[in-house]
Amino acid sequence: MFGLFKQRRRRQLRSQLVPNEWRSIISRNLPFYNRLAAADQRELLGHVQVFLAEKRFEACGGLQLTEEIRVTIATQACLLLLHRRTDYYPRLVTILVYPSGYVVDEERHVEGHIWEEGREGRLGETGREMGSMVLAWDAAKSGASDPSDGKNLVLHEFAHQLDFEDFMGDGVPALGSRREKLSWAEVMKMEFAALRAADSTGISTLLDTYGATNPAEFFAVATEAFFERPQALQQQHPRLYGELRRFFRQDPARYSSEPAAG
Ligand SMILES: [Zn+2]
Repeated sequence: MFGLFKQRRRRQLRSQLVPNEWRSIISRNLPFYNRLAAADQRELLGHVQVFLAEKRFEACGGLQLTEEIRVTIATQACLLLLHRRTDYYPRLVTILVYPSGYVVDEERHVEGHIWEEGREGRLGETGREMGSMVLAWDAAKSGASDPSDGKNLVLHEFAHQLDFEDFMGDGVPALGSRREKLSWAEVMKMEFAALRAADSTGISTLLDTYGATNPAEFFAVATEAFFERPQALQQQHPRLYGELRRFFRQDPARYSSEPAAG
């Protein structure tokens, strides 16, 4: 019963009128939006309505919470949900937003599926058991403002959240058939090994070598590249692109504004 109630409520939220203020924030802060097909834009805005109604935002470190912050983060997060049946990142309750990279004093042993981004200080983190995500607002905003630089903190962190949907956080999100799982495992293993090898020899790579940390980071980094450098990814890593295209049910190479691969 609760499930039905939730679904009906979400349907209602998705059909609500989108405030004009949101539209102007999106057109100002999220250049990728204008490149989406009209149907995808509508679907995305519907998801944003649900996301903003269900998730709690908290501003930290003296930051004032604004619609710009909420909408800019939610719209990027919901890009990963297009064309799929989704429960809207069910393990995530609260998004904590800091003005910029923050420094964590305590020495914490990183385990229990917590991922932390940023080498000195931190730009973001999320964890399977945390129920929360922390984001640096300046990085969340700048990640969106250039949709083709291959870096996007919000897509990265929400890729981790998608990875948690099957309760694991191991770089393998919830996939369909056994065949899909086998194909995913084979391609990811090969690509991860290649990135690790490139990282240790200092060869420059399309994928951020932060992805060589572990398979979970590899999936998050590959997600950034998939949406921000899709044409280059398709050219240089066609099998990886193919796996991500099937998983995300999207083909961003078709609308990408990235510069010619090089
Ligand atoms: Zn990460």
